[in-house]
Amino acid sequence: MTEHSDAAVAAEHKDELLQRLRHFHSDYFPLHQQRFQDLVSEGQHPKTLFIGCSDSRLVPYLLTGAGPGELFVVRNVGAFVPPYDGSHGLHGTTAAIEFAVLSLHVERIILCGHSHCGAIRAAYDGVPAEAVALRAWLKLAQEALLPVQASPEAMRRTEQRAVVLQLERLMAYPMVRREVEAGRLTLHGWHYVIEEGEIHIFDVQKGSFVPASSASNSGTGPYQPYVENEGRVFSL
Ligand SMILES: [Zn+2]
Repeated sequence: MTEHSDAAVAAEHKDELLQRLRHFHSDYFPLHQQRFQDLVSEGQHPKTLFIGCSDSRLVPYLLTGAGPGELFVVRNVGAFVPPYDGSHGLHGTTAAIEFAVLSLHVERIILCGHSHCGAIRAAYDGVPAEAVALRAWLKLAQEALLPVQASPEAMRRTEQRAVVLQLERLMAYPMVRREVEAGRLTLHGWHYVIEEGEIHIFDVQKGSFVPASSASNSGTGPYQPYVENEGRVFSL
């Protein structure tokens, strides 16, 4: 073996991401191969659109116990929903909502914010001058901000208000409103408290967030049980 190839092998072993890709292929994939192949031959039919913050601590699959094919996911800074204006603008989140509702016919939309959200913090504190797109994007939280010092309590309330604000914007999407009113689509407003490992669910009747441990269901709007393809009932 040459010196060069020794170095190459050493580099390969240091490339942890490469090791993880190999681990997925050799260890995880064989266990779930049939599921993946079914999802290719039958196509994807996720029942849930998950709109979440990009924060690395928010892990939708862990929180919901979902596997491949179950969640159609769109994530952005803050888990914000742009206003529906029927324009041809390049809004990735808007396009994902249209696709999920009109083509995938999802049965629920989860809007998931979280504690210690950097987007909400930045909406109070501002961003670097060069971050012009980010500054414009954070305006989507403007109405949720409180005219107080950004204390931990104010931050949490703002994060929760931001979730409700995005749900209201979702309801202004014609296809979302139509499906909700027809009883084919439910909305779930969630605030994930990282340090407690618990989702707090917005209850539209109570007008407040209820910890999942004491909530009567996982939804915000008209509630329907969550049943996945194989008839397994998830107790979220
Ligand atoms: Zn966040």
